[in-house]
Amino acid sequence: MSRDCLTMDKLVSHCKTVGFVYPGSDIYGGLANTWDYGPLGVELKNNVKRSWWKRFVQESTATFGVDAAILMNSRVWDASGHTASFNDPKLDCKSCKTRYRADTLIEEHSKGAVNPDTMTYEEMGAYIAEHHVNCPRCGNHNWTAIRQFNMMFSTSRGVTEEGQDLIYLRPETAQGEFVNFLNVQRTTRAKVPFGIAQIGKSFRNEITPGNFIFRTIEFEQMEHQWFCHADDGARFYEEYKSKAWQYLIDLGFDESELRFKDHEKLAHYAAAACDINYHFPIGWSELNGIHNRTDYDLTRHQEYSGKSMAYLDPVTNTRFVPSVIEYSIGCDRLLLAVLCAAYDEEKLVDDKGREDTRVVMHFHPFLAPYKVAILPLQKKEQGSKAREVFATLSKHFMCTFDDTGSIGKRYRRQDQIGTPFCLTVDFDTLEDDTVTLRDRDSMEQIRLPLSEVVDYVQSRIQFN
Ligand code: ATP
Repeated sequence: MSRDCLTMDKLVSHCKTVGFVYPGSDIYGGLANTWDYGPLGVELKNNVKRSWWKRFVQESTATFGVDAAILMNSRVWDASGHTASFNDPKLDCKSCKTRYRADTLIEEHSKGAVNPDTMTYEEMGAYIAEHHVNCPRCGNHNWTAIRQFNMMFSTSRGVTEEGQDLIYLRPETAQGEFVNFLNVQRTTRAKVPFGIAQIGKSFRNEITPGNFIFRTIEFEQMEHQWFCHADDGARFYEEYKSKAWQYLIDLGFDESELRFKDHEKLAHYAAAACDINYHFPIGWSELNGIHNRTDYDLTRHQEYSGKSMAYLDPVTNTRFVPSVIEYSIGCDRLLLAVLCAAYDEEKLVDDKGREDTRVVMHFHPFLAPYKVAILPLQKKEQGSKAREVFATLSKHFMCTFDDTGSIGKRYRRQDQIGTPFCLTVDFDTLEDDTVTLRDRDSMEQIRLPLSEVVDYVQSRIQFN
């Protein structure tokens, strides 16, 4: 794999050209930090979500899924602390009026050597002044003071203009799991420890450049809350660190491109927190977080809602408010990492010694948008048989059909979108019902009876 060949610009361009991701509101000049998933992107994203759900919900006897509302009672955000403190340190350039996050400016200026997470607003201001951090846009050093900026998007509900209630688009999915703790526990008769998982949209008013889909104002999170006794918190924290890591390895990530990073500054309620960082083309950056949040979340909801969140342990007959181990990963951010890890430019030499480059996406087959491309060798001769094959196979997995251009060109088109198998319908297929299957990674071909293709492909696209 020639990992060094990838820049973010190249990836953005590839994604737009083949149909993974387009700029949001493209024909109107876009909207900062929004992106739309195209025909390939939506498949890839669905498969990323499926792989996560399979691993953390389907394969667990003790984790249950929910799909909570995006709009929640505003008291939820008072209880969670978001109304008061979901703030970023913002400052404006008085010359060109561009707004920045102070911590990002410092991180970029120091090339990651300084960690602004451990700084107060005053310390950040002092750093920017002392190190002459200038506006990246206009180059001036003409800053406002650093101020708090709440990142929640607000909207209102109500029938009359006067009677409007302020509500928020959720900035994280986690609260949907916390507020449903009692519902899920009662309806599933689950015993602590157990988990609640959710995949859904979150919204944050991010003003810094997003680096493609790394940071967007609307994104999907895959969050898993594990409710346990406080005494078991440290053990389950380690367990979820391993599970989160193993999930990434099983998706095909190289260990050398991942690393744990412990948080230097813990939230006042947290017992432990770390991220798994990935080596993106923009540098090492957060892919997911794992936190031991103690009993903070349920205790706060108990306080604000007036409903007891205590759990009666049937074995010890003691009552306690469970602690939470949170594992949270951005679906879009994981998808970006999947794209980065999959992208490759391979140098090939043909039998006449001519050099060529093939762009290939080495996705885990489970994640690949299409599993099989069905290619009639000649449109006229085998076109209708190939359509029959498509009709049969597409009942089992996503397939695509291509009957234009030489077979070589069609293979390349599939390589650059990561289709693991190309199935060629040729003269012999009409005689003996066998087909050629070409493997994306090795480029090797095998001949198979058509009747065996579904089982063969199914066995190769598993995520375990
Ligand atoms: P960051 O430091 O990158 O802003 P965070 O620490 O605020 O992220 P969390 O609140 O812990 O992130 O959210 C959990 C996960 O959600 C992150 O690890 C990331 O994968 C994803 N995520 C958070 N914010 C965004 C965003 N604006 N766009 C895309 N994904 C995001």
